[in-house]
Amino acid sequence: MTSTAVTGISELVTNDPARERGLLGVVQDAAVVVDEGRIAWIGPETDVPDADGRLELNRQTMMPGFVDSHSHLVFAGDRSAEFVARMTGTPYDGGGIAVTREATCAADDEQLRALVAARVAEMNALGTTTVEIKSGYGLTVEQEARALRIAAEFTTETTYLGAHVVPLEYHDDRAAYVELCAGEMLEACAPHARWIDAFCEPNSQYAFTEDEARHILTAGKDRGLLVRVHGNQLGPGPGVQVAVDLGAASVDHCTYLSDSDVEALAGSGTVATLLPGVEFSTHSPYPDASRLIAAGVAVALASDCNPGTCYSSSMPLMVALAVREMNMSPEEAVYAATAGSARALRRDDIGTVRLGTSARDLAVLDAPSYRHLAYRPGMPIAHRLPGTVL
Ligand SMILES: [Zn+2]
Repeated sequence: MTSTAVTGISELVTNDPARERGLLGVVQDAAVVVDEGRIAWIGPETDVPDADGRLELNRQTMMPGFVDSHSHLVFAGDRSAEFVARMTGTPYDGGGIAVTREATCAADDEQLRALVAARVAEMNALGTTTVEIKSGYGLTVEQEARALRIAAEFTTETTYLGAHVVPLEYHDDRAAYVELCAGEMLEACAPHARWIDAFCEPNSQYAFTEDEARHILTAGKDRGLLVRVHGNQLGPGPGVQVAVDLGAASVDHCTYLSDSDVEALAGSGTVATLLPGVEFSTHSPYPDASRLIAAGVAVALASDCNPGTCYSSSMPLMVALAVREMNMSPEEAVYAATAGSARALRRDDIGTVRLGTSARDLAVLDAPSYRHLAYRPGMPIAHRLPGTVL
């Protein structure tokens, strides 16, 4: 069988502005034809052409698979006790990363690979079809390169994050660690990475100052890596401006933004990636997405799945939180979690449903409308398309 007509689609979310049906380009009562694993036809069900096979979705929703443009999946160990402590009042300051580092460095390749595989499988099971994976729990030349080698087995969107925190052994000589990140470690990691990232956060003693982050990110850029930044998470700071100045694809967190940050983002090619699972998991105030959208800033949603501040990779949960807590409409949240996060990865082949889109990049909802992602929080309604069509 080479072609399959997928019928019974109550709503087809295309994110294709050419369709002129709102931000999501929704086609009601739609069908698509998948031929050799790619979309060959899109239109109303009444006009569907003949195909070799048929898949009837019985009034389900089809949409682009979620693009999770921010995750830290290469880690070992357990920090559930830290989470419980935080829920009862201990504030987050970035220090727990050292705990994960110890466990991660102690794990062998096989153990780490199995942990990443299980986490990617969890993501796929909830409709995520593209994932970015960062290093950042090794913090030595060998361990960071190893994390990226393993990450690259699962995605092309790999990010070198040696500048996650300054490790304990360098606290008395931060400059030496910054030089390592911008030099030998970068050289070892660049062959396995598409991106470079830094945790630019003067509000944490463990993270990097503006000058340190600029130095490391510029070195990565000069080495041919694309730039993304962790910024403005714990308080107002220079992260957004650093990202915009360096032409970063995305600045992630954006929990605390000044008016000039918003202005800088609006006039730039840098996406503001919001990570509401972190605010949820750390009892922090949520950013106001409507303020960014009103200013014309491109917004993405991602999970930031990591062992310290959000051990959930559920993109449906992120959509629900964005609607409930960040003043996004369901339409804006779904767009941000698909087309928005694709843009945050500078990808135009994912995050939309168009002719030529791979069936592997599609998701199906057990629901008549995309609105149910926000309306039914915690319910496992999102899936990938069945394997028979791929
Ligand atoms: Zn992160």
